Amino acid sequence: MLLDQEKPAWAVDVAVRQATARNHSCTHLLQAALRGVLGSHVKQASSLVTPEAAAFRLTHIAAMTPEGNWLGSRDAVNEAIMQNSPVTTEVMGLDAARAKGATALFAEKYGSEVRVVTVPGVSMELCAARILRPPVRPAAS
Ligand SMILES: [Zn+2]
Repeated sequence: MLLDQEKPAWAVDVAVRQATARNHSCTHLLQAALRGVLGSHVKQASSLVTPEAAAFRLTHIAAMTPEGNWLGSRDAVNEAIMQNSPVTTEVMGLDAARAKGATALFAEKYGSEVRVVTVPGVSMELCAARILRPPVRPAAS
């Protein structure tokens, strides 16, 4: 327990948190891009998100190739980033989220209430993690 005059021995590193949120948000965009390029059968198998990078494992019937589909997926993610669309979150029942078409990780267990993260026109996914909340405005000079 902290007394009124004491400061906590911990602090949130805002830059690290933002970098992690940014990379996590990219996993949403990547999953949507992969489903658009490869097909709706594509599922995110797992991801590892750090402040420095994100790794994404997926299920698909064949290896990806740069010419065939990797570059198309990359371009779709970059387009979504450049749109800088406002990201919305909404808490709703799991059945309602599924009825709206939200993407869920099939191996994940969800409660009856879920948070749906939507990037308009790009992605709608169940998610409990911290995400970036565009639109991002240029810094004032
Ligand atoms: Zn997420």
